[in-house]
Amino acid sequence: MSDMLEKFKKAVPVLEKIEQAGFEAYFVGGSVRDALLHRSIEDVDIATSAFPEEIKQIFPKTIDVGIKHGTVVVIYNGENYEITTFRTDGEYTDYRRPDKVTFIRSLQEDLKRRDFTMNAIAMTKTGELIDPFSGQEDIKNKLIRTVGNAEKRFTEDALRIMRAIRFVSQLNFRIEQDTYKAIEKYGELLTNISVERIYAEFQKILVGKSRKQALRLLVEQNLHHYLPKLSGYGQELKQTADIIHLPIWKEAEIWAILLILIDKEPVDAFLRAWKTPLRIIKAVKKIYVAYQLRKEQSWTKEMVYYNGYDTCISSEKIYSVLHHLPVQQNVQTVKNIWADLPINSREQLAISGYDLMNWANQKSGPWIKETLEKIEKAIINKEIDNDKSKIKEWLFP
Ligand code: ATP
Ligand code: MG
Repeated sequence: MSDMLEKFKKAVPVLEKIEQAGFEAYFVGGSVRDALLHRSIEDVDIATSAFPEEIKQIFPKTIDVGIKHGTVVVIYNGENYEITTFRTDGEYTDYRRPDKVTFIRSLQEDLKRRDFTMNAIAMTKTGELIDPFSGQEDIKNKLIRTVGNAEKRFTEDALRIMRAIRFVSQLNFRIEQDTYKAIEKYGELLTNISVERIYAEFQKILVGKSRKQALRLLVEQNLHHYLPKLSGYGQELKQTADIIHLPIWKEAEIWAILLILIDKEPVDAFLRAWKTPLRIIKAVKKIYVAYQLRKEQSWTKEMVYYNGYDTCISSEKIYSVLHHLPVQQNVQTVKNIWADLPINSREQLAISGYDLMNWANQKSGPWIKETLEKIEKAIINKEIDNDKSKIKEWLFP
């Protein structure tokens, strides 16, 4: 049995417990969709007619994560399960969140509030499918189609627009015509969605297998005008899309390519407007800076050492691609320089500040840092060996 079915099998007792208590419970959402697509699944999501309080009475170990929206996490056999009560969403007035949600006992009504037909399929513990909106048919035809009237669904919650493009990137599906038209018509509503939510979807667009198609589609549908700092940069986005179609590009590299092509905003301000995680911002900035150096000259020992391996490889990949040079070959040059460096970081120096103080019989001070840096540079350039006595000789001839 595949891993995927294992995940469902392991969760069957959870459904059984809920059923034994007199309620209904089904697998729903992304896990059912991905199982039908033979894609690997992360977690199985469960929908139930039991209300959150009732779920908490059935299972001794639970965590409240979103009671208001009907979601309780149940810990069972060492696994976490998100269990969400069937619900209908009330009126939407902010283009994102329903004003109130109502818990209900009907699966059909719950499936109706879900975004796309492929995400509105429920599965029983024995693998029977409940599919009132022909999600299986759309999956077979690789189509993203809203449940119900597309215009209504996107005006209710504009995040669904980003989700549609995200699924294009992840699943290599097309967007069904009415759904497509509604996205075009209501793209502007994205300005009502918090940057955090937009980023979460955009990040998935960037790393999805069909990111080229998805990014091109995003521009084709004029959505970039409503995304942070991207208005007016459709051309640059399309260029980025074409460059990154191969799976060799990491998220930070993709942002760097986009920023290099845009060649305008301070990198920092741009990425902060996107609420990009600090870890990514740091990596992008380093790649961007190294790229600017690389534009000025070929790689030297010092450039590679001080900018670091990952950063230099990333910038060389980008430099080569943007200048139509052989990527593999040029990246190899960087790798060779790195491999040939006598040391790869300051920690590998054969001496420390204490050695310097002993040798010079002097107290600590700024001179230590300066001297260490001088030694480091001489070692990198192979003017001295990274050897304690050789270094001493070099310092005190
Ligand atoms: P992933 O594989 O990324 O988890 P997913 O489809 O499971 O994709 P989730 O955000 O985990 O996405 O949501 C679970 C399910 O909840 C979806 O499959 C869909 O049925 C429903 N859903 C999620 N977000 C929305 C939304 N904005 N509007 C309507 N239904 C939604
Ligand atoms: Mg999910």
